Amino acid sequence: MKTVTLNNGVVMPLLGFGVYQIPAEDTERAVSDALAAGYRLLDTAAAYGNEEAVGHAIASSGIPRGDLFVTTKLWVQDAPAQDNTRRAFETSLTKLGLDHVDLYLMHQPFGDVYGQWRAMEALNREGLTRAIGVANFYPDRLIDLIVNNEITPAVNQIETHPFFQRTDYHALMREHGVQHQSWGGFAEGKNDLFANPLLADVGKDYGKSVAQVVLRWLTQRDVITIPKSVRAERMAENFDVFDFDLTDEQMAEIATLDTGRSLFFDHHDPEIVAWLAKRRLDA
Ligand code: NAP
Repeated sequence: MKTVTLNNGVVMPLLGFGVYQIPAEDTERAVSDALAAGYRLLDTAAAYGNEEAVGHAIASSGIPRGDLFVTTKLWVQDAPAQDNTRRAFETSLTKLGLDHVDLYLMHQPFGDVYGQWRAMEALNREGLTRAIGVANFYPDRLIDLIVNNEITPAVNQIETHPFFQRTDYHALMREHGVQHQSWGGFAEGKNDLFANPLLADVGKDYGKSVAQVVLRWLTQRDVITIPKSVRAERMAENFDVFDFDLTDEQMAEIATLDTGRSLFFDHHDPEIVAWLAKRRLDA
């Protein structure tokens, strides 16, 4: 597996498996299938409600802990967030059945962001999470967080797919040592992505599917990607993306698909902010 080295020296796989929207009762089987297919990076979150099932799949896999890279995410916490963040982290750790995670992400740039981040810095210093990062941070929020804190986020996990490519932001993050990670790499199939003629045409040169072209396009840009699927055959297809390279011309063609806009949530829309920022998890 190709890897990237984060700004604190931690090595992270470039391709992994995401479990958003997999019902808890199906997650253990899906993660077990993904591990059998070769995935070693697993991406879950407290808000997905399936950390326990991910933990069961890890425990029954027999794979040495050091070979796995497990990410989970902190949901929005009220101020003062120091204690709340530690409690939320401990809950995640218990549900996962682990003694540390590899990457802990702040899921949204809302709530007591600075209290949350300082608590995450403490968890990182104590070795309870090998790296810390953020998700859904737009450039203004990311730079302010970097400037006002000791630890620069190792990763920013943001919506990134052929219709929202984040090219300028990618360069800015690289300048600051923040690793770009894609969520929704397939745009969850929106805009009829899997039938896109340009992507299908590129794939024909290599005998690859649209999904494989998208994953290679992301990884060739050094963007970590975590496709989700509940089907073993698609997990295998999505894992088989490192035996071909897209040409510069093909990368330039794919660049023309960028609309520069989110297909999901606009984190600057006051209604979306209020909806996300007010949500609290039950446990
Ligand atoms: P995604 O990976 O863009 O798309 C998943 C969809 O694509 C599913 O409907 C899946 O269907 C289908 N699919 C997968 N492989 C396919 C293939 N080879 N051919 C055709 N269809 C295929 O969506 P996502 O789950 O939203 O994003 C990926 C991960 O990013 C998540 O699981 C989560 O870990 C993370 N994420 C993070 C955030 C955040 O706020 N930080 C937000 C969203 C997602 P089947 O399952 O039926 O195969």
